[in-house]
Amino acid sequence: MHLYCKCGYRFANAGDSLAYKGRILADQDVKELVEILEYGEQPHDDDLELFAPACDLIERVMFQCPECGRLYVEDSDYSFLQFVPCEDAEPSPEVNRRLLISAHGKHWRGCLYADWKNPKPDYLEHKGYIEPLVNVEYDRLEFDDYNAFEARYFEILEELKGKEILEYAVLRVNGVKKHTWSCD
Ligand SMILES: [Zn+2]
Repeated sequence: MHLYCKCGYRFANAGDSLAYKGRILADQDVKELVEILEYGEQPHDDDLELFAPACDLIERVMFQCPECGRLYVEDSDYSFLQFVPCEDAEPSPEVNRRLLISAHGKHWRGCLYADWKNPKPDYLEHKGYIEPLVNVEYDRLEFDDYNAFEARYFEILEELKGKEILEYAVLRVNGVKKHTWSCD
């Protein structure tokens, strides 16, 4: 599913740790979630007993457009309600457009993925893509030269390690892991 913002921005609703996507936990459900976590601290056999009910409580999602700040909140019928940021009832351009990032804010540790496919499959425009899932903005990272692709991967890796905001990194060549790094 793709959701388009009124300003034209396209939200991808796939992948993990999307910086513009959040989940709704109703205050009325916090007690139940805490009870599930408390139950999880006791010895138990079946993980599904915890996982499924916890996920049910945070099923509804919201998106905030990183371009214009509009917020889209999922209703109980899977439709999205749209909200425009306002200041004194006037639409405000000076709104925080990162309302849905991690509770760790800029210190959140993300992942760095680099994928090279040669020959280039028809469904891709380029042979190499680097995807930093971190709370730092990068320009499009698309490559058709392997050396440039690999060099940029290691450059970004060092940059994110230096900032201490990386949990895991992997470089794959035709599906095979050529390099991995983990913070522990
Ligand atoms: Zn927008």
